[in-house]
Amino acid sequence: MSLTALADLVSLCKRRGFIYPGSAIYGGYKGFWDYGPLGVALKRNLKDAWWQTMVTDRDDVVGLDAAIIMNPEVWRASGHLDSFTDPLVECKHCHQRFRADEPTQLAKHEATHDQPPAWTEPKKFNLLTEVLLGATEPKSKAYLRGEITQGVFVNFAHVVASTRIKIPFGIAQIGKAFRNEITPGNFTFRSLEFEQMELEYFVPPDDSAAPKIFTQLQAQRLDWYVKLGLQASHLRFREHQADERAHYARLATDIEYHTSFGWKECEGIHHRGDWDLSHHHLTYHDPETNATYTPYVLETSVGVDRAALFFLLDAYELTADRVILKLHPRLAPYQVAVFPLLKNKPELVKTARQVKDRLKANFRTAWDDRGNIGKRYYAQDEIGTLYGITIDFTTLQDETVTVRHRDTTAQVRVSLAKLVDYLNHQFKA
Ligand code: ATP
Repeated sequence: MSLTALADLVSLCKRRGFIYPGSAIYGGYKGFWDYGPLGVALKRNLKDAWWQTMVTDRDDVVGLDAAIIMNPEVWRASGHLDSFTDPLVECKHCHQRFRADEPTQLAKHEATHDQPPAWTEPKKFNLLTEVLLGATEPKSKAYLRGEITQGVFVNFAHVVASTRIKIPFGIAQIGKAFRNEITPGNFTFRSLEFEQMELEYFVPPDDSAAPKIFTQLQAQRLDWYVKLGLQASHLRFREHQADERAHYARLATDIEYHTSFGWKECEGIHHRGDWDLSHHHLTYHDPETNATYTPYVLETSVGVDRAALFFLLDAYELTADRVILKLHPRLAPYQVAVFPLLKNKPELVKTARQVKDRLKANFRTAWDDRGNIGKRYYAQDEIGTLYGITIDFTTLQDETVTVRHRDTTAQVRVSLAKLVDYLNHQFKA
């Protein structure tokens, strides 16, 4: 199957209320996006699925929600004030700036000028976003977090002291991060404000055991995407070479997704060694061995927006007569939709409302009573709803409904008494 063109998805997302350009009525704001009713639902489902696997299903991981703005000393200690940089070049013709390490972007820009390309030497550019705090002058400078990770480290000792958890253990977090990206683009792939889902897993500083856990984490994370419906052939690992690793990383592997604009990073898995805890002067005391040491940290970090984009691209299918968003039942904004055949027949509407009320206790359920049934099916197909349930005149006689499947368009009659069981069975299959 060919890869989904980004433009097709951008248009669907706007038209159906997944994602809108930020501040659009004021001409937009580059690198910022707003999530509409369906986008919010998709992101929430994605975060729930991640939390379930990474926290709820495990005994060795606890959650955290740290502040976005922290004492600026955190960023000095973590090395981000010095090293959170991208190399940047400026076009001498028009003074626009681009990442020096993105040759396709540079070539694309060069083609917009008649003159031969002319770039400045690459200069380091810090990605942290500054904010000014204080009601009176002089205001004090702080930073919006450039990664959610540091909030975990500054709370490491609190978590150890206030829970019964012992190494090896992890702290998981989901939250917003901000980066002064030089070339935001490819829709939500690279934006200035985005959300991350991260696990920081603390292990003893053992150079033979830690790389093995690192390898296990990679396999677990890849598996998570495949179980949620991403095509395995669209995913791959890419190991970072020493010269491209972030300042904190001893080992780094990306999980990449195959987009129509190339293989792109979806998730970073990093062996951060003792970089962070030692820079924050934090240690761990093992109550059993009585040893005190600085643990190693193994990290998995994925952007919610980027992963949502990849799940959408992967799910998008254009057939001869319709668009289908083949989202996994865990992720689809709605799992089922209920339709009264005709909206001007009160007995149909009343029964359909009763069906909807029964289903909504079990499934994310939409209601649609506009237009003909065929159009309603198509409208639900392109937002990913798995089953359409039609209440018609036969329903009033024999208490059965038509259940129509999104991907196959197959229709079956199911009795109202068995509908919840039938759907549960389908979602488990
Ligand atoms: P890139 O090389 O694409 O800039 P990175 O290696 O700097 O990414 P990490 O610091 O490892 O990214 O961040 C972890 C994850 O956060 C990434 O894999 C990505 O999913 C997400 N992410 C990072 N920067 C952005 C951004 N500007 N917009 C959206 N998501 C982002």
